Amino acid sequence: MSTSLLSHAFGLTDQQYLKTEYKEGTVIFHIRTKDSKLRCSNCGSRNVIKKGTVERLFRTLPIGLKPVYLFAHIQRLHCNDCGLIRQERLSYADEKKAIPVELANAL
Ligand SMILES: [Zn+2]
Repeated sequence: MSTSLLSHAFGLTDQQYLKTEYKEGTVIFHIRTKDSKLRCSNCGSRNVIKKGTVERLFRTLPIGLKPVYLFAHIQRLHCNDCGLIRQERLSYADEKKAIPVELANAL
């Protein structure tokens, strides 16, 4: 896996590849939004400061017979324009469908 393959095969053009884990017959790609793509989820400003991360797991398309998960390192952002601290909005996922990371660790 690579950032380029994430972009071309999975359509995740704003994501950076971090690492791959192989766990209990599954494949887990760790990803994070590229710094240049970070925006305030409230007002859309790019004038933001990173304030830590939240981890979420999303199931995505399998590779062969192997289940594949995206382990998202979601950034918390402080916006210098509107003053709010919010999690970035993910371009690729419905956060309501995320699998809690604790469950993923039990795989
Ligand atoms: Zn803002």
